[in-house]
Amino acid sequence: MSLELTDLRLTYADGDSTLVALDDVSLTVRPGELVAVVGPSGSGKSSLLAVAGTLLRPGSGRVVIGGTDASRLGDRERTALRRQRVGIVFQQANLISSLTALEQLQVMDHMRGGRSGKAADLLRAVGLDGRENRRPHQLSGGERQRVNIARALMSDPAVLLVDEPTSALDHARGTEVMRLLAELTGERAVATLLVTHDVAQIGHAHRVTEMDDGRLSERQPGLTPGVPASSRPGGR
Ligand code: ADP
Ligand code: MG
Repeated sequence: MSLELTDLRLTYADGDSTLVALDDVSLTVRPGELVAVVGPSGSGKSSLLAVAGTLLRPGSGRVVIGGTDASRLGDRERTALRRQRVGIVFQQANLISSLTALEQLQVMDHMRGGRSGKAADLLRAVGLDGRENRRPHQLSGGERQRVNIARALMSDPAVLLVDEPTSALDHARGTEVMRLLAELTGERAVATLLVTHDVAQIGHAHRVTEMDDGRLSERQPGLTPGVPASSRPGGR
């Protein structure tokens, strides 16, 4: 199930004037595809994710998640769509300090009033074997980010939205997290949209687009540094 964004426009009130945060943005992310949007701070990346994740309504344009047009839904239905189909990895992990890694994920089950039993499997999938019972302060920054990612996958989302996942990590740890995201995207056939200001960390993306002042433009293929052929669609 794809994420389809069409002609999105979003403005914020800025004193007497309006600030155009998203200016005619269109982008499709297919299942199993990791698309990275790179752009400087303030270019509209987090706004794009908020709209794609139905947390913000665009001024105009359409957000279609797995075939469902969110623009046609009321607030309750949008919330339901988000819970069922969208996983969001915010920049800050927002883990609960008193809970273990396993419990951070199990909370998602409790909120849905069920027990999926998926938490332990997901922690293994993100490489946290043996870390299940650690609390956030007993985990490294990279490990906390992995918990954050695993938690976003608890609902088996069709769409995964990721905001600056490497900003708090050193380069090597950041690269590992990006590789993990690319792997999970393929294995779970999720449509992943990731935004970052860090051009050095987009090597594992299948496709890269640039954002500047609320506008998207396709990046020239030759400009993507260090893309391993194996992580390109059709590359393996
Ligand atoms: P990025 O994530 O690329 O740094 P943002 O989407 O956070 O960009 O912000 C895009 C622009 O919109 C910036 O100029 C920012 O100051 C402005 N902005 C973001 N959120 C709000 C808001 N809630 N109200 C007013 N302006 C905002
Ligand atoms: Mg941002």
